[in-house]
Amino acid sequence: MGQFIKEYVVVGGGSAGWIAASCLARVLLKTPKGGFKITLVESSDIPIVGVGEATIPSVQDLLRFLNIDEKDFIKETNATYKLAIRFKDWSHIGGDYWHPFGEFGPLVENSALYLHWLQQRQQKSKIPSLYDISICSVAAKNNKFALPDKNGQSVRNWLNYAYHFDAGLFAEYLKGYGKSKGVNHIIGTIGNVQQDESGNINSLILNDGRVINGDFFFDCTGFAALLIDKTLGSNYEDWTNFLPVDTALAVPSETTLPLNPYTLSTAREAGWTWRIPLQSRVGNGYVYSSRHTDEEKARNILLNALDAKPLADIRKINFKAGRRKETWVKNCVALGLASGFLEPLESTAIHLVIASIFKFFEHLPQTKDYEFLRRHYNNKFITDIEEIRDFIILHYHVSTRNDSDFWKYVTNMEVPDSLKSKIEIFKQQGKILTSQTDLFRAGSWVSVMVGMGLMQEYPLPILETLPNDFSTHIINEVANAIDNDIKSAQNHDEFLKNF
Ligand SMILES: Cc1cc2nc3c(=O)[nH]c(=O)nc-3n(C[C@H](O)[C@H](O)[C@H](O)COP(=O)(O)OP(=O)(O)OC[C@H]3O[C@@H](n4cnc5c(N)ncnc54)[C@H](O)[C@@H]3O)c2cc1C
Repeated sequence: MGQFIKEYVVVGGGSAGWIAASCLARVLLKTPKGGFKITLVESSDIPIVGVGEATIPSVQDLLRFLNIDEKDFIKETNATYKLAIRFKDWSHIGGDYWHPFGEFGPLVENSALYLHWLQQRQQKSKIPSLYDISICSVAAKNNKFALPDKNGQSVRNWLNYAYHFDAGLFAEYLKGYGKSKGVNHIIGTIGNVQQDESGNINSLILNDGRVINGDFFFDCTGFAALLIDKTLGSNYEDWTNFLPVDTALAVPSETTLPLNPYTLSTAREAGWTWRIPLQSRVGNGYVYSSRHTDEEKARNILLNALDAKPLADIRKINFKAGRRKETWVKNCVALGLASGFLEPLESTAIHLVIASIFKFFEHLPQTKDYEFLRRHYNNKFITDIEEIRDFIILHYHVSTRNDSDFWKYVTNMEVPDSLKSKIEIFKQQGKILTSQTDLFRAGSWVSVMVGMGLMQEYPLPILETLPNDFSTHIINEVANAIDNDIKSAQNHDEFLKNF
């Protein structure tokens, strides 16, 4: 029998590090067996990346898992609610569509309502827009917010949400949580990493000479990837041929009302800008391809996109889309930016940290004989991140824009076969092939494909036996019910004030 794993060391005090340490504390420090130790070490000289303010609904799983009170969390992180992403100018200049959370209405005749919608569009019936049968996009468009109806009695049953929050305050909040649950917190910069004869990491040497020993390590050192890359040599698979944006300029600006419960993503000459409203300020950024524009132009585009006074200087962040070949190597798992990064378009990076630490618990090694667990975990990570990669590429690739070198490149580039087949099957039959474990379910793909202007050629066989007026009647009923419900909902800013 192998040796037991008792001492976990998390390196890095950004969102990834504190999510990992908090979850480890929640799971391990309460076990009756006891004897576990969790240490987090972070440098006071190397700042956290400090961006990462938009999330997707899985962040609620983290709060539930840690038993965190939502009201307290929202207050302490200056958070707002997020119901959707609004995409402007993506399909063509002037195009405007939504990727809402939640469900598109009920199942009708065992088929999702969006399938009925696709069928009726193909039949050229007169129907409301796809985004009018999503309570999240209707509420978002009207700057309203309401909590989901958990009893399933009203249209609010189809609602789901995530948050926008201050990235620095988020890490601070989890730091408070982790420390209160017994995480040993050390401030220091690691200068040297020591490995045993089989290559496993056994200690970290800080620049001031202190030594931190451990049985298992999490590399949450951000782009530095100190353990997974510099020590263990897990190479990076570069995806910049599919995802050419590689630079972000970020700047906060003053809050303006109404407080939008959505992220605004506007396509630009060489990438896209984000607008993320928090209670205390608005986060803005321009993510662009440095091969297709220069920094001065990019700065001007970002400053022109602001709708209020900037509150700080513009920060520049370089990155490269891709993933580590293996994110679990020897006795080390990389999380967050150290494990790879796509780009911020669908706000999936914090989700991947949460999903990865939950996945780690499913593979939790008891002893040091974990080779099969390690391989299985690595394969699962690759499946997850590749599915997200394809979804992000879709937003660029099917655009009809060709007004700049960037748009000419992304609309003509080779894309992964997995994405090619999804697009082709949708164009022919209106079907989305997804698996049970995919993060983005068919409704998300349909939102983007429809928003980008894709149409299916043939009717859907499973709905062909239904009369058109049956489906159009239900689509209209759902759109009316949502519209009526949202009229009575509170404005998002009032909701947060009365919270
Ligand atoms: C432009 C941009 C926009 C983004 N937007 C989103 C978004 O909207 N939604 C989303 O989910 N994600 C987003 N992300 C990703 C998100 O920011 C990260 O996934 C998240 O913040 C986690 O970062 P991290 O903890 O991995 O790294 P970091 O925050 O960089 O933390 C690294 C930590 O490692 C420590 N460290 C490094 N080297 C050493 C050393 N030698 N010794 C000791 N400590 C060390 C540092 O002190 C620091 O504490 C965005 C990323 C970028 C680049």
